[in-house]
Amino acid sequence: MVIKVGDIPPEGMEIHFDREKDLKINERTKIELATPLHSVIRLKREQGKIHLTGEIHTAIWLSCARCLEPFHYLVDIKMDYLLVPRDKIPKAEGLRLKSGDMEVEFFDGIEIDIDHIINEQIFLSIPIKPLCHKDCAGLCPYCGANLNKERCNCKVPSFHPFYEALRRLKQ
Ligand SMILES: [Zn+2]
Ligand SMILES: [Zn+2]
Repeated sequence: MVIKVGDIPPEGMEIHFDREKDLKINERTKIELATPLHSVIRLKREQGKIHLTGEIHTAIWLSCARCLEPFHYLVDIKMDYLLVPRDKIPKAEGLRLKSGDMEVEFFDGIEIDIDHIINEQIFLSIPIKPLCHKDCAGLCPYCGANLNKERCNCKVPSFHPFYEALRRLKQ
């Protein structure tokens, strides 16, 4: 969905956005939705800039960094930032990414690509090490068993007999 800046009325507009299609971030990265995405986005013109507020709610499929199992990751994003036309940035301000307390994003000044904004926000919300549960027990490093589901009989050796022998030999 693309919104033309010229179509935003003076009082601003509110867009309700729903989708069930997976998100394509780029050629290699796709994010699979686990539940349909709902989003409300409000756009208001403010001196040539656009004040964007809104929320995104959905769940996506991620793989747990510890047990490698796929799980539903809840996405609950609140947005509040200024869209600034790229050509309207005074050179000195160009590197400053905040205007007051508000975050700033740049756009071409003509069209606002809602899909792109939503994709980007979701992509940025994904943790570096996603966990299916904060207490995920992970995999046994010896047999690979998923310790959330089963107990294996591996015992973590406090020392390895071979290295222990070597250590004694050196003494
Ligand atoms: Zn896990
Ligand atoms: Zn094991």
